[in-house]
Amino acid sequence: MNVLFKIKSYAVTFLRFFYSLISGGETCLVCGKTSYLTPLCSNCRKLYFVSDALKVNRCKCCGKELISEKELCMECRDSPVLKSTDKMIPLFSYRLWNKELLFMWKIQGLRALSYFFAGLVSKALKELQIEYIVPVPPRPGKIKKNGWDQIDELCKILKFHYGFKLLSLLERTSSTQQKKLNREERLSTIQSAYVLSEKVYEVLPSELCIIDDVCTTGSTIETCAHIIKVNTTVKKVYAMTLFAVG
Ligand SMILES: [Zn+2]
Ligand SMILES: [Zn+2]
Repeated sequence: MNVLFKIKSYAVTFLRFFYSLISGGETCLVCGKTSYLTPLCSNCRKLYFVSDALKVNRCKCCGKELISEKELCMECRDSPVLKSTDKMIPLFSYRLWNKELLFMWKIQGLRALSYFFAGLVSKALKELQIEYIVPVPPRPGKIKKNGWDQIDELCKILKFHYGFKLLSLLERTSSTQQKKLNREERLSTIQSAYVLSEKVYEVLPSELCIIDDVCTTGSTIETCAHIIKVNTTVKKVYAMTLFAVG
């Protein structure tokens, strides 16, 4: 699996590089210079300082950037949206060319970005000394239909390339899975599209980090964190996203 995955991604990278050479290369989204393989040139890629991103003053609960408040934003002080998530760690804000990058990655399938993003997440996880990662799972059938899922790929790179421990603890519910639940379980998960995976892990760590691409309201992450907290022995659930809205 490890080897196959690497061969496949090197082959894709090689083909893209070859194509970028004969087509004159891509232009950098930020500065407009030729960037060959990726949508950002090597200079602009350096704009993504993970250490600085981690130093931004953010709400401990929801991850929103704080201006004058300390530790918690006004909303989280009144009624925290995130109860099961111990810390929300978005890396960059979802604006300007970041929006475009996410679109190219997710919708246009520019998989060369997976390695770029995985590198950023890896740096941040290492700085925070987080070892275990849990991907937000794709809709059932998405990988079959599109050939890939961006979070799945990101987490696989984090595992095979950077050595993080990947725990696929969650699954998206399909209608067949819903049928297997009894009435009470069905009612309690009715708003939730996620369940604990049937995969059994003998030992679970005391803390782990959910990985997603963008955090909008935090409800997806909160649902996932809640399922993990209620059903496992995990004590702390963090969440890291590449981008945060607002
Ligand atoms: Zn550039
Ligand atoms: Zn907050």
